[in-house]
Order: sequence, then structure tokens, then C-alpha cells
Amino acid sequence: MFEAHFQSFDDPLPAQTGARVQALRAELARLGLSGLILPRADRHQNEYVPPSEERLAWLTGFTGSAGITAVLTSEAGLFVDGRYTLQARTQVETSVFTIVPIAETTPEKWLERNLPAGGKLGYDPWLHTTEGAERLARACAAAGATLVPVEPNPIDAIWPDRPQPPLGPVVLHELRFAGEATDAKLEKIRGEIATLRADALVMSDPHAVAWTFNIRGSDVAHTPLPIAFAVIPKEGRPVLYIESAKLSNAVRHKLEEAAEVREPDAFIGDLKSLGAAQRTIGLDQATGADALSRIIGYAGGKVARGPDPTAMMKAIKNPVEIAGARAAHVRDGAAVSRFLAWLDLEAPNGKLTEIGAVEALESFRRDTGLLKDVSFPSISGAGPDGAIVHYRVTRSTDRAIATGELFLIDSGGQYEDGTTDITRTVAIGEPSQEMRERFTLVLKGHIAIARAVFPEGIAGAQLDPFARQALWAHGLDFEHGTGHGVGSYLSVHEGPARISKLGNVPLKRGMILSNEPGYYKAGEYGIRIENLVLVIEGPKLDGAEKPLNAFETLTLAPIDRRLIERTLLDAGEIAWLDAYHARVEDTLTPLVDAATKAWLRAATRPVG
Ligand code: ZN
Ligand code: ZN
Repeated sequence: MFEAHFQSFDDPLPAQTGARVQALRAELARLGLSGLILPRADRHQNEYVPPSEERLAWLTGFTGSAGITAVLTSEAGLFVDGRYTLQARTQVETSVFTIVPIAETTPEKWLERNLPAGGKLGYDPWLHTTEGAERLARACAAAGATLVPVEPNPIDAIWPDRPQPPLGPVVLHELRFAGEATDAKLEKIRGEIATLRADALVMSDPHAVAWTFNIRGSDVAHTPLPIAFAVIPKEGRPVLYIESAKLSNAVRHKLEEAAEVREPDAFIGDLKSLGAAQRTIGLDQATGADALSRIIGYAGGKVARGPDPTAMMKAIKNPVEIAGARAAHVRDGAAVSRFLAWLDLEAPNGKLTEIGAVEALESFRRDTGLLKDVSFPSISGAGPDGAIVHYRVTRSTDRAIATGELFLIDSGGQYEDGTTDITRTVAIGEPSQEMRERFTLVLKGHIAIARAVFPEGIAGAQLDPFARQALWAHGLDFEHGTGHGVGSYLSVHEGPARISKLGNVPLKRGMILSNEPGYYKAGEYGIRIENLVLVIEGPKLDGAEKPLNAFETLTLAPIDRRLIERTLLDAGEIAWLDAYHARVEDTLTPLVDAATKAWLRAATRPVG
């Protein structure tokens, strides 16, 4: 009945690992190398990479979003984090690759132990940051070996049908969505270049390029990124390096108002000229490839590595982006509510599967007429699948949603006015008392974040325990951060702020973050309640000595009342929930069909 256009459920094809690793070893021998280190990365350290950059998946069969392999003459290790250990074991030929949990042994430690003295380890300097390359070089030195840059990537020589790099069309991100013109943004960036005492900035993060030049692209899945580099001088016109084939005449003309537009081929030559003129070039330490530092350095220039100066500007949404986010969340909330109402009717039949649910939800979002993509592959987990935090359903894992289970669905939409990300956990049939109690503990954490009032300067790490205290009091917890930043028709995972143990960036008014505590019982069920929140000015309190901030919840969709154990909520929590639900009903009722209206009325009844 429904169909997903933006998400594939195909199982990855089994890789011909043995033959490929053999071909790689022959290629390495030809190059005089004793091994190759290969991360899942492209030249921009993107979260989603185009198929032409999926070297790690091609070689190993592992399709997770993070991983790194080291292939030596006789050993090969694949390093993955806790999210991906199980997936790696099922996808990867373990007679060829040893799967190494990265928390136990880092690639650097493993290399120290396994590299032969006098050996040469190859690395592609385009796929590692300079800091990353420095760590590898130290590990090689500790083994008495050396780290050697290799270009082009040795995989490319043995990958006969490697896809072409993408040439997705670029569109203008209009001022009615962006809220600030490129000239004004460039002015601020030039101020940051001056603070860095640099002569120019190399922009290596396509998110930064997209934000600065008010463009969006279609080179990778789920994030409207144009793959491009830019150089912004302290004075004079910036240069944008992007394939002509991606630009219509109208887009090119608009871009040329603010910048010179050149083919990517010209980038390296231009960097060398800057270096030869002994310029100091600012480079983003998180996404700037080591190759860039090397080119600038060899030509005689100086590299000033630091945080991406646009990251904070991009994270603090302007009034137009904030208005857009609110509108996108109303639209998305109506689509999600239609889905939830449909799910309540459909699920008891016992025929609905995890994939069927994703297809239906996407089609309700497409019905808005404004959906550009889903913001990430939906996580649709019934029963025990819900306990796998990064579960991604495929044809072979697809499971019927059964009565007596919890169903967790985490999904989002990309609209030109905003990016959404919402998780709801739904009871199918009668939930157990334990499910209700644990759901309510998660809800208490969610509400504690939603109602938090905190002084200017407070960082996400200080708020993170708010989301956990109710769970902690029962000896429970969850093993992921409470929240991540979210872009404006950009990445659903956007820095620099987050609500987690590692979130040391102060939360500023205008930032959009997720509020997504959870609880996971392995083999049984998973619970997560996720809304996006906007940092706003807090209440003006009598006698307050500090300016206060608070959150406005943007996401609008009912939270399953059947899973709430009312006796575990205090009066303040009940008041928040009832007010939230009243707002959900008032806002969404005018936008939905009669059946969903009736469902919304029941789903948003006060619990108080
Ligand atoms: Zn989510
Ligand atoms: Zn999220």
C-alpha cells in the first residue's frame, strides 16, 4: 500500500572479501608497503559519504557509519565501536578480519603490537585529519615503523567498478529560509579569520560551505550537501570549488555575486600558490584533511588549525530559521500523528512489519508535499529490535509488530524550512507493568530537560544528568547521549553543542537540540522519547542574579498515555505533560483528517 522512496531496506551484498583483500595485499606489495590503514571517511569527514567513497564497505562488507580497518601482510583488523560490534560480526568474513571493539583496543594500540619493525604503513592523507595522522605516526614510531602517505588510494586501483563521484544539482537556499545573506555571513567569517591571525580560511566541511553560500545540494543521502571546498581570504573574493555540472546558470550567477566559482581541479594549485606566498591558512581541525595541511606546508605556508569558525554561527539559528523550524515541526507533527493514529488501527491485525511502518510514515510525510528527504534512515524496532540503539531494519531482519510488544520508531524529515527528528515508543496491545514503569522513568527524564531553567554559560554536560536521575534512582541508565544539535535543512547531527557527558559547549539561545532519553532491555524492548527543543530566554525571576535560559519544545506529537504510570509523576510533571498535549491537539487538529482528529482528542486527554 505504501512505499518508501528515501530509504532502502536491501541487505548489503556479501563482499568478496577474500579476493579483494588478496588484491589489496598484492597492490601494497607493489607499492612497497607493509600495510594500509583505511577509515570509513571521505575528503570532508562527512557522516554520509557518496558510494564512490564507500571503500571500507567494498573491502570488508561492513556498512556501519563508523569504522576503520588496518590490513597488514598477514593480519587484518576491523575496528568498530559498541554500536556496531554485532553488525560487524554478521557482515564481515571473520576468517579474514579480526573484529576489534575500539573501546578495548584502538587501531593505534593494535598497530603498535602488529606492525613489523622497519615496516611502512600506508595512509590516504585525504581521509584522515592531521591530528588523526599524527596519532597514527606515533603508533608506527612506537613499533619502529613509519607512516607513509599514499595517493591515489590503493583501493581505487583494485576497485574496477568504483562508482563515479556524485554530481547532484545545487539549489539556492532562499533568504526566506536562510534568513541571512551570504555577504553578511562572509563579513562575520572574515572577523573570525582576523581573530585566528590568518590570511585565509580553507573551508573543508560541506555543511559550512552550504550554510555560508546559502546553497543546498544532493551529493549524499539524507543531508542536502553539496560536496565542495571553499577558500575565504581575509580580504577579497572567496573562491568556491565545485563541479560546473552541479550548477545551473541561475545558481552559478547567484553564486558569482559573492564568490569566484572554479572547478575542483583548480583547488590544489590555488592552495600551493597561497602556501608559496607564505600565507597563514586557517583549517578546521575536525574536517580538514591532512592532505590539505601537507599541500600548504610543503609550498611554504603556515597552517593555523582550530575549530570551524562557522560551526557556532550555524548552530545559533536566526529568527527566520527559528520560524521555519516551528513551521516544519507543525507540518511534521501532523504527519507523525496521522501515522500514529493509523498505527493504532493497523498494528492489532498482527500483519504490520517494521518496514511496513517505515513506508507508511514516509508516505504520510510525503503527503505534506514539502518533504525533500528523510533526515536519516528510520529506526523502526519492534520488541527486542527496539533495544538495539542503532537498529536499521532490512528485508532479512524485518519483523512483524506483535501484540504485547513495544514499538519504537525514530525518524525525521528534511524540509526546506527545517529538519526534524522525533522518536515515539508505542504500546501494541497491553504493556506490562515493568514497561509502563520504565517508560515513565524515561518520560520523567524527558520532562526534566524540557522544563530545565539554567543560567547563560551552562553546557550540555551539566544538563545531561537531569535526563537520567529518575532512571539512576532505580539503578537504570541508557548508554547514549541525551541530545545532539540539529541543523536548519542540513545535518540532523550538527555540532558543536550537545547534551551529553562530553557536551562542553555552552548552550546559546537559538540552538536546536534533541531531548531523547531512553531505556533498553536487551532481548526484550527499547524505549526512547525524543523531541527537538530550542534554547530560548528563560523566565524573568524576581531577585535572579543571572540571565536564564530555557527550552521551547518544537516537536508536536502525542506521547503514548497507555505507557504512563501516573503515580510515578509529580504535579509539575503532570502539568507539563497535560499542557504539552493540549498544545499538540490545538495546533494539529486543524491540519488533520477526521479520523486523526478523533484519535488526537483521545491521545492528548489530560492524565492529571
Ligand atoms: Zn531521532
Ligand atoms: Zn536524535
